[in-house]
Amino acid sequence: MANYQNILVAVDFSEETGRVLKKAQEMAALNQATLHLLHVVEYTSAMYAGEIPLPEDLNLDQDLAEQAVVKLEKLAQANGISDAKRYVEIGIPKHEIIRKAELCAADLIVVGSHGRHGLQLLLGSTANGVLHQAKCDVLAVRVGS
Ligand code: AMP
Repeated sequence: MANYQNILVAVDFSEETGRVLKKAQEMAALNQATLHLLHVVEYTSAMYAGEIPLPEDLNLDQDLAEQAVVKLEKLAQANGISDAKRYVEIGIPKHEIIRKAELCAADLIVVGSHGRHGLQLLLGSTANGVLHQAKCDVLAVRVGS
C-alpha cells in the first residue's frame, strides 16, 4: 500500500462526518501520516448579492467561519485527534479542498461519497468534483447506503 504522509479529510458536519473521519484516522494511523481537517463555509454573500439587500456590516460568511473553527475544534477533541491540523476556508467546497490539498502537500484526500447534498447522485457533487480535479489519490468513503 502507498505510504501516505499527509492526509486531508474534508468534513461537512453532516451526520456522516463520523464515518468519514474514522476512515481518515485509520488511514493516518496505518501510514503514520499527518492528518489535516478542512471545513469549507460555502460562500453565501455571492448567492444573495443583488437579490436581497443585506446590511453592509453583515458578514455572514465570516460569522459562519468563526463558528466552524469552534465546531472543528470540538470534533477533533471528541475523536481524540487534537493534534490534527485544522483549517476553515470560505468558498466553493470542491475548489477549496483541491487548493488546500496542494498547499498542505496532501497525498491522499478523504471525502464522503455523499454529504449534506443527499443521495440523489451516484457520487455527491463535491466528491465527484474532487475526484476529477485532484492531483493525488482520493478516497471516497461510502456513506448513506
Ligand atoms: P456532497 O458532494 O456535498 O454530497 O459531499 C460529499 C463529501 O464532500 C462530504 O462527505 C465531505 O467529505 C465533502 N464536503 C462537502 N461539502 C463540504 C464542505 N462544505 N466542507 C468540507 N467538506 C465538504
